[in-house]
Amino acid sequence: MEKVKIRRELLEYLLELARDFYPNEFAGFLREKDGIFEEVLIAPNPHFGRSSAFFDTWMLPYDESIKGTVHSHPGPNPRPSRADLNFFSKFGGVHIIIAYPFVEDSVRAYRSDGSPLRIEIVK
Ligand SMILES: [Zn+2]
Repeated sequence: MEKVKIRRELLEYLLELARDFYPNEFAGFLREKDGIFEEVLIAPNPHFGRSSAFFDTWMLPYDESIKGTVHSHPGPNPRPSRADLNFFSKFGGVHIIIAYPFVEDSVRAYRSDGSPLRIEIVK
């Protein structure tokens, strides 16, 4: 399985955001540097649905370092919803979903077609 690399500090921050937003979802865009996800931009006005965080793509800032998205699921299912997959397919890139209870084990990464990626946490 291919893998995606993410900084430990960023992952911990994302887990914290997911807990802070609970029971709502949060959504953001991920910035990559030298093949490693390093930074999150919180989506300014995502539409939060019951089972999917839905981004307005036109709000996407023009930024070539944005290579993925992240959002939380307030339930324990880390699989992308139908709306998620629809969005992923438009955006491309890598998509991280953080499911309840928002610990490292509940984080999953997917390609834009919904197939899973392994996550490597780097220092
Ligand atoms: Zn979702």
